[in-house]
Amino acid sequence: RNRSILVCGGAGYIGSHMTQWLATQGHTVTVLDNLSSGHRQAVHWGELIEADLLDAPALEQVFRRKRFDAVMHFCARSLVGESITKPYDYYANNVTGTLNLLETMRRHDVNKLVFSSTAAIFGNPIHDVMDEEHPKVPINPYGASKLMSERIFADAAQAYGLHSVALRYFNAAGALPEHGIGEAHACETHLIPNVLRSALGTGGMLKVFGHDYATHDGTCIRDYVHVQDLAQAHSLAVDFMDENPGAHAFNLGNGQGFSVREVISTAAAVVGRSIPYEVAPRRAGDPASLVASSCKARAQLGWRPQWTELEPIIESAWRWHRNPPQWFPSQA
Ligand code: UDP
Repeated sequence: RNRSILVCGGAGYIGSHMTQWLATQGHTVTVLDNLSSGHRQAVHWGELIEADLLDAPALEQVFRRKRFDAVMHFCARSLVGESITKPYDYYANNVTGTLNLLETMRRHDVNKLVFSSTAAIFGNPIHDVMDEEHPKVPINPYGASKLMSERIFADAAQAYGLHSVALRYFNAAGALPEHGIGEAHACETHLIPNVLRSALGTGGMLKVFGHDYATHDGTCIRDYVHVQDLAQAHSLAVDFMDENPGAHAFNLGNGQGFSVREVISTAAAVVGRSIPYEVAPRRAGDPASLVASSCKARAQLGWRPQWTELEPIIESAWRWHRNPPQWFPSQA
């Protein structure tokens, strides 16, 4: 069934892969983005409306002009370290921005929302594999802002009949270079792009943040999930809300963790050369290990990730970084 979907943050890394997926499925896509970290050139599918969620009158105009069956909300500040030094930015963008969107949706009787949430809502893991019931004690403003949003959705379900699905991503990775999209941050902090830029000689010496964690090789373990698989889950979430009212949440990961050293050695195999690195102090706010149980998403959404191995995920990112588009930002 064709739907009209508003993708807030559709010019960004995960949002652009979402629009590609929706277009392939025959849906009508409208992108709303303030282009603070997204790229106009990453919007290949659907109209781009340049607007900020903090600008409530602009939002109102968008909803007056177009009718949406559902909203997907990817607009957020998303760096843990930055959230600790700029908490007001994080609460304003991530909580107030979300509230503005929800209020506008309510005025226009749009009652389906799929939301980008994060493993950071859980804080320090107390189980090796984290399911949806894991205690939620965020340890930074980023995680707190996302958990607050999830709480608002539960309250909105009660008060206003909002249907929502919050998808808690573990580590989003990979690209679709054949469609002209991939990770393109002006200030890149993520492991896989930093490893690949180091391999290309464009990123300076790669730093491994901490080698004395309580893991098998001393480096942090993360669960890397391809952005196309994340997009698939969002699409399924819209269908899910047809039959399941109220507020829902799912963890999305591959269910398998890889250490920083394993990412580096897999990347070295992909690029065909060794990747030098140096060990640096731990980074503030990094838990030793974050691995998702996605059993609930598989059982209830019917989610079937296609990118289950680390190597093809890194290979897709490598094809993107090796041959970036002209608009790829030069690194800060
Ligand atoms: N990391 C690293 N060097 C880098 C970037 C990241 O050692 O240049 C580590 C980081 O400390 C964490 C893991 O790689 O343990 C994943 O970090 P990333 O920023 O990619 O994602 P996060 O888990 O913070 O969402």
